[in-house]
Amino acid sequence: MERVGTHSHIRGLGLDDALEPRATSQGMVGQLKARKAAGVIVKMISAGKIAGRAVLIAGPPSTGKTAIAMGMAQGLGTDVPFTMLAASEIFSLEMSKTEALTQAFRRSIGVRIKEESEIIEGEVVEIQVDRSMTGGSKTGKLTVKTTDMETIYDLGNKMIDSLNKEKVMAGDVITIDKASGRITRLGRSFTRARDYDAMGSDVKFVQCPEGELQKRKEVVHTVSLHEIDVINSRSQGFLALFSGDTGEIKAEVRDQINTKVSEWREEGKAEIVPGVVFIDEVHMLDIECFSFLNRALEDDMAPVVIMATNRGITNIRGTKYKSPHGIPVDLLDRLLIISTKPYEEKEINQILTIRCQEEDVEMTDEAKDLLTKIGVETSLRYSIHLITAANLVARKRKAPAVDVQDIKRVYMLFLDEKRSVQAMKDYQDQYMFNENEGSMAVDT
Ligand code: ATP
Repeated sequence: MERVGTHSHIRGLGLDDALEPRATSQGMVGQLKARKAAGVIVKMISAGKIAGRAVLIAGPPSTGKTAIAMGMAQGLGTDVPFTMLAASEIFSLEMSKTEALTQAFRRSIGVRIKEESEIIEGEVVEIQVDRSMTGGSKTGKLTVKTTDMETIYDLGNKMIDSLNKEKVMAGDVITIDKASGRITRLGRSFTRARDYDAMGSDVKFVQCPEGELQKRKEVVHTVSLHEIDVINSRSQGFLALFSGDTGEIKAEVRDQINTKVSEWREEGKAEIVPGVVFIDEVHMLDIECFSFLNRALEDDMAPVVIMATNRGITNIRGTKYKSPHGIPVDLLDRLLIISTKPYEEKEINQILTIRCQEEDVEMTDEAKDLLTKIGVETSLRYSIHLITAANLVARKRKAPAVDVQDIKRVYMLFLDEKRSVQAMKDYQDQYMFNENEGSMAVDT
């Protein structure tokens, strides 16, 4: 089933190869500077150039901060972990705030693990040639006709032994008879190699190298540190990965995993892929969380932290101090800040057009113009919400497309924020538990 979500029309940041934003592309409209800045960051993350850095996307409500973060996630591809959370999610009874943040951080660190796979019959296997033996570096290939590794190594070593005796040259095609170990040189003819293949010899070596049979095929998996934690946590076990009910993970488990992963890195078995943790509504974090972030960013396995907020100068939660965006100044000082601006009428119209396509709604130009005006007067988000509602009204009267009357109808049915506040002012005496005897404290 196809689902239409708030940001499902966003397919990327809409930039060209030189990271220049196209006016409208991949579902993205306007906000050119912010998109370009986001694109630069995506490039740096993909190149593994930044880790432990923090970015703040700041701007008024409905200016596309979350949309830009979604676009960044798409630009990073599936191999780079991207974790998204709203700051309020970390206040839960099940785990401490710092545990929730730690889990989000560790979800955003990928561990790319290299494994040697089983060789499959008929597969082409690369052989790397030892430089010291040949004075140069060469690679060769053999097509395997058996899956028994011992036989393969045995035959490979026999081939190496006999290279000198038989004066087989690099680039030659040879066969080794499995039973007798006898080597036959076929010269450089691939056609004849194919003939041999057809005759059903056990193993065929193509482009024979001078060196050791060293390498099998590598398979690469990327898992997150958090997944490794959960799997190795005795109280949770891997099933918790499916339920998401992981609870708190002990510090000793994480220490062990960190040690193991460092060993893998040193042995060349694994590499770290720093991903992104996106914290929306970051002003909802409190002073303890901010101090945790300050410290966590310094860890050598820290992801890139992207935060978003629509707040101006406000209280830092948990203190009586005010600060820009409600973020302590020492953390603010570490951030790369991307700002988003309110949209112009034309841009709102384009976004609404894209949303109509996404929600599969036909709308007349006049209706869209009216909806655009509503968007300018109220908010982009409110006007987006009216699309599907207006479509239902239009369908009810069996109209082929949403028209001005449908927009007017839903505009009267559903209040936007300003009219809702006005309605409260007008009727406040009739509400229960009205604490503002006479005067309204709602911030308009
Ligand atoms: P808030 O501060 O209220 O959280 P926000 O800045 O995160 O708002 P979004 O939620 O990203 O705003 O935007 C509101 C809606 O408008 C979403 O459906 C989003 O996908 C869409 N939108 C915003 N900006 C753009 C854009 N530049 N191009 C296309 N769609 C956009």
